[in-house]
Order: sequence, then C-alpha cells, then structure tokens
Amino acid sequence: MRIDVLTIFPDYLAPLELSLVGKARTAGLVDLRVHDLRDWTDDRHRTVDDTPFGGGAGMVMRPDVWGRALDEVLTPEALLLLPTPSGDVFTQATAHSWAEEAHLVVACGRYEGIDARVAEHYRGAGVRVAEYSIGDYVLNGGEVAALVVVEAVARLLPGVVGNPASLVEESHGEAGLLEYPVYTKPPAWRELAVPEVLLSGHHARIERWRRDQALRRTARRRPDMIDALGPAALDARDREV
Ligand code: SAM
Repeated sequence: MRIDVLTIFPDYLAPLELSLVGKARTAGLVDLRVHDLRDWTDDRHRTVDDTPFGGGAGMVMRPDVWGRALDEVLTPEALLLLPTPSGDVFTQATAHSWAEEAHLVVACGRYEGIDARVAEHYRGAGVRVAEYSIGDYVLNGGEVAALVVVEAVARLLPGVVGNPASLVEESHGEAGLLEYPVYTKPPAWRELAVPEVLLSGHHARIERWRRDQALRRTARRRPDMIDALGPAALDARDREV
C-alpha cells in the first residue's frame, strides 16, 4: 500500500519511522511518503493560508496551494482523506475498509481548516474523498489524525503484525465487544493474583471466562456496543452474563 501525507509540519510524522510501522516501511510493506505542503507555494514567504471570506477569527488554508500539491500526488486509484472534526468518525471498521485500498492520501489541515472548495473540486473531478474525524474534540492540526489512520490501517496489512492471531480477538473487532482483561507473569503481584482459571490449562473454561469478561466490560463501559449487537450475536449463556 502507498500512503502520502501532506502537512506543513513533516517532522510531526517522524514517529512513523518507529516500531511496527517503521519496520513495515523498511520491509517494503508500506510505501509511506511525507510531503511539506510549502513545497507547492509560489511566494517568498511560502504562504499556505489567508483570512476567511465573510470575516471571523483565524486563517484558512488556500485551495490553490492544496490544488497544486494534490494534483501532483493523487493517483487514479487514490482515496483522498481529509481529517476534520466535522467528518465521519473513524472506527476500526473504517480502518479495515481503508486497509483494502491501494493508495491513501492524507491532507492535514491547520488553522481553521482547508478551503471547502478543495473537497468539492476533487469530488467533482471523480476522486473519492473521505472527510473523517478521530473524535469529538478539536486538535490544532490534522497530523495526529494522520498518525492515527496510518497506524490503525498499517497494522491490518498482511505481514505487519508478527502474529495475525493477535488481531482476531481485539476490541472493536468482529465480535463487536471490548477485549477481556489480560495478564502475564508473575502470577501474584502486590497481593493481586491472576484469575485462577487462566492458570488451569483448561481451554474451554478459559475461553468462556474471557467471553464473560468481555461482555461484562463492554456492558459497563460501552453499553452502546451491546445495544448494537444483533440478536444472533449472543447465545443463551451470554444472556445470563
Ligand atoms: N475550525 C475547525 C472546526 O471547528 O471544525 C477546526 C479546525 S482545527 C483547529 C485544524 C485542523 O485540525 C483541521 O482542519 C483538521 O485537519 C484537524 N483536526 C482537528 N480536530 C480533528 C479531529 N477531531 N479529527 C480529525 N482532524 C482534526
């Protein structure tokens, strides 16, 4: 997969050289390119923003600069991603869907955001455009939202996570639940013992215990996720929990 990130702060994306994403890049599993939007400016001050039409506080990113940059970076198969707090909320399901794409282009906004004609123009030109939010809060720029998407998507690509089984039972996966609590050595720590069943070696009991824990945790922390489960998602034993 190819991913291009356009930003006025390329250094913000430096963490993508670390850990699993960094290794995936080195192994050639992800072709990640970070661009400085100011390379497409045409004035001495490398200006990317201007005052908003209609007045009001702050500055807006200019469509002409974004247009020159995106014309160069977009490919016919690209999905253009515009992070914005007014977009559709990015979820694990979105990550799975975007992991199927051949080319993602993330355009990081700053200030009051990107001139609305950029999304309109590219949609009109037949480019697939997704405006997405990483949550109901406002950040200073789209760089963190780009990091979130790159990491969530890249770890789903074949070969990126060493043991693909670790992706199966995760929170927000196919089961529609949060993950059960996890434990490791030592079996007793500060007077807290690991639940007995996990030391039993009895796989069926362990599986049932984990399912019960996942159900309880989800019901307590995210009742909306329980409400969203279809009738077929719960068996008779689940309903007792
Ligand atoms: N004026 C905009 C509004 O109220 O919707 C907020 C602009 S914000 C200060 C600047 C940039 O940060 C946005 O263009 C976007 O790229 C990014 N951003 C901020 N919060 C975000 C969020 N929750 N999800 C995704 N991107 C976000």
